[in-house]
Amino acid sequence: MSDATNSAEDRVFHGGCLCGATQYRVQAPLKLFQYCHCSRCQKITGSAHASNLYIHKEQLTWTKGEDEVQTFHLEGTKYYGSAFCKRCGSNLPWQVQTGNTVVIPAGSLDDAPDLTPAQNIYWASKACWYRSPDNLPAFDTLPPRK
Ligand SMILES: [Zn+2]
Ligand SMILES: [Zn+2]
Repeated sequence: MSDATNSAEDRVFHGGCLCGATQYRVQAPLKLFQYCHCSRCQKITGSAHASNLYIHKEQLTWTKGEDEVQTFHLEGTKYYGSAFCKRCGSNLPWQVQTGNTVVIPAGSLDDAPDLTPAQNIYWASKACWYRSPDNLPAFDTLPPRK
């Protein structure tokens, strides 16, 4: 599993949850990276949008704590789901019910993905309060005290 060859197909991306109870690895290639602004993704992430990468299920291997992973499928949906660490609640990779696709929440990766987001989907459903980060002041850490 060495990444030293630098071959794109040999690349492995590691990820896991905040508390460390779960860890996984993903075999390249990552297929798509996009933001989903649908109302379900707002609820499940508690944020403006999900930041999702897509792979085939065979590319995912749990290396620690798979029994700590709770999956959730919303009744009446085919392509929507989620998974999270039972201990810390971090979002984790989940498989869509109707296919072989696994969705990787990008923030759960420890390694930098070799893709950048390509598009926004469900833009029409975006949070009414959403503002592009590019249009907001940015501080390297906390803002200066006033
Ligand atoms: Zn955890
Ligand atoms: Zn969504």
